[in-house]
Amino acid sequence: MKKLVYLDNNATCMTSPSVRDAMMPYFNEFYGNPSSMHIFGEPAAKALKKAREQVAALLNAKPSEIIFTSCGSESNNHALRGFLESYPKKNHIISTVVEHPAVLQTLKFLEKNKGCTLTLLPVDQNGNISLEKLKEAVTTNTGLITIMSANNETGVIYPIREIAEFAAEKGILFHTDAVQAVGKIPIDLQKTPVSMLSLSGHKLHTPKGIGALYIREGVKIHPFIIGGHQESGRRAGTENIPYIVALGQACQEAGQELKDGSLQKISALRNKLEQALVKQISNTKINGNVPNRLPNTTNLAFEFVEGEAILLKLSELGIAGSTGSACASGSLDPSHVLTAMKLPYSFIHGSLRLSLSKFTTEEEIDYAIEHIPSVIQSLREMSPFYTLPK
Ligand SMILES: *Cc1c(COP(=O)(O)O)cnc(C)c1O
Repeated sequence: MKKLVYLDNNATCMTSPSVRDAMMPYFNEFYGNPSSMHIFGEPAAKALKKAREQVAALLNAKPSEIIFTSCGSESNNHALRGFLESYPKKNHIISTVVEHPAVLQTLKFLEKNKGCTLTLLPVDQNGNISLEKLKEAVTTNTGLITIMSANNETGVIYPIREIAEFAAEKGILFHTDAVQAVGKIPIDLQKTPVSMLSLSGHKLHTPKGIGALYIREGVKIHPFIIGGHQESGRRAGTENIPYIVALGQACQEAGQELKDGSLQKISALRNKLEQALVKQISNTKINGNVPNRLPNTTNLAFEFVEGEAILLKLSELGIAGSTGSACASGSLDPSHVLTAMKLPYSFIHGSLRLSLSKFTTEEEIDYAIEHIPSVIQSLREMSPFYTLPK
């Protein structure tokens, strides 16, 4: 029987019912503006304060260090563009070739239009960066290092603590795009001297359109959105209280799940899926540093097939996955992340990312294991490059 199996949680997640329940009263009951000095403003202001405490608690930060934004992309833009406006003379920025477009494209814009210079660190075949190369890249002009906490395509986790300590030692600011890492691996900003950190709600089971930026006390960054005095003058615009409440609730739940074994359950299902596919499908490779990945992500490369073709066939069966490739002007460009990892040519187009959540069930994983091998086999039978096993 056909099922619907959502294995694309790194793209977005379902809003969890408990998060939805927490936010609902703030649409029709407590709809006031938190800045208002009357009885309608009060519950909204209280909710805003509580949510800020919940987000801060997940990161072991101070509530005053958290500002709410509209999404992870805005948080990244705020950090990078705010940095360059605040420190125009310290205009060398170090990053990596595998960042999310919200970082990579912003950096390229700043390089082209705002006079910053850029060093993008390469990655090795497992998607890792070299700390030695990072250290060598630093110049007297280096003002910012921005490196993601974990990669959205491969799940590879970066050594954020070492990088933060190195940057702090050198007096360089360090921003990390932690959108994929928050809630999936522990983050302790008391122990890790990160200057700025971006997160997004919809990768944590809130609705799409809410994010946060952590700015360490003492780090002065120009605001990205200028206007009213909201968020202590750091981000203008009347606060989206229902979604902020959702983010607070989601962060509180994520904090519990980091302790209660939920993530071990997710990684056990991920491992079951991955091992079954590698075993049943010949010429298959796992992309990324296998021992050091997010618990929910697997990125597989199948030799002699096209990722887009796999997605379409799987979608017919009700299974949702993703590939990093973008269909550009009729040619299929493989993902910038897998390209940077220099995958063998015959593998590079045939990648499939499957990402789980706390709502993924064992039945769903079994359904995926039952169907994916025959999809790959049927596509290979159509490929001119594939020789059928005798
Ligand atoms: C999803 C994602 C973003 C963008 O977040 P939005 O809230 O969708 O703007 C940024 N960085 C990474 C690593 C992501 O996975």
